[in-house]
Amino acid sequence: MINFQNVINDIHNNLKSSENRGVVASYIPELEKQSAKSFGIFLKPINGENCHVGDWNTPFSIQSISKVLALSKAIVFENNKVWQRVDVEPSGNPFNHLSLLELEKGIPRNPLINAGAIVIADILVTHLKHPKQDFLDYVRNIAGDHTINYNLDVAKSEQNTGFKNFAAAHLLKSFKNLNNDVDTVLDFYFHQCALELNCKQLANAFYLFANAGKCINNKQHLSLIQVKRINAIMLTCGFYDEAGEFAFEVGLPGKSGVGGGIVALLPSNFVIVTWSPGLNAKGNSLLGMQALEQFTTKTKRSIF
Ligand code: GLU
Repeated sequence: MINFQNVINDIHNNLKSSENRGVVASYIPELEKQSAKSFGIFLKPINGENCHVGDWNTPFSIQSISKVLALSKAIVFENNKVWQRVDVEPSGNPFNHLSLLELEKGIPRNPLINAGAIVIADILVTHLKHPKQDFLDYVRNIAGDHTINYNLDVAKSEQNTGFKNFAAAHLLKSFKNLNNDVDTVLDFYFHQCALELNCKQLANAFYLFANAGKCINNKQHLSLIQVKRINAIMLTCGFYDEAGEFAFEVGLPGKSGVGGGIVALLPSNFVIVTWSPGLNAKGNSLLGMQALEQFTTKTKRSIF
């Protein structure tokens, strides 16, 4: 029987004094306030005790990780109709790349790149009566934690500087793949990305993807087939143009964000979250990738 707490303690010890911690994102100015020294790990097994080490209790900006949660809500509203507006292929490009969108006539490669996530945001704006509040309530519900909130300074900071997202949204609109107006959709999208959760809250929110669609309160939110699809998209598209590398090194479906968080999971087994704000050249948390590689190697738990 593996002692998971000892495993994550060892990993944290191995990495916590690393000199090379990557670079904290600054293109959203508010994110630059994060300390590159922060480093936390939280493991939530499907059966068994939670384990944690380091800064697991500090809330951070989940950024692109929110795209998976938004997708899970959009799928409940539109099920397979979603795939008429967004494809499911890895893009092999950075998250905010635009030329493919033009070439492929406004159908984004997948729902986890920015253009795809903006289409998903459009779907939610169409279906939710009070989009920002209703989406926040959904995340609070599946995480079983009503203290979760948006960081309004981060949302505003991105609103002021997210020029490429405005470009993507206008391009989508020109191809008639955005039903609501650009400002409304992006206001929702920037808030969604500005959700702040700690490692434990994030592990709880993602529990349903490892637990056949049932959240921590045992409520069925997604069917098995929907969970299968979302996990497949995380595996193939969850790490910008480093999804192949993440599968190769770690071997789990997951999603990263430029706030330095990574969530990964093994269906029917566990959810694991790491947070370290320093990013590698591809925009993924440098220590987080290393920690997860060590975790699946030491425990021999991966989908492969
Ligand atoms: N809100 C960020 C953006 O749209 C998300 C980026 C990310 O975490 O990948 O640029």
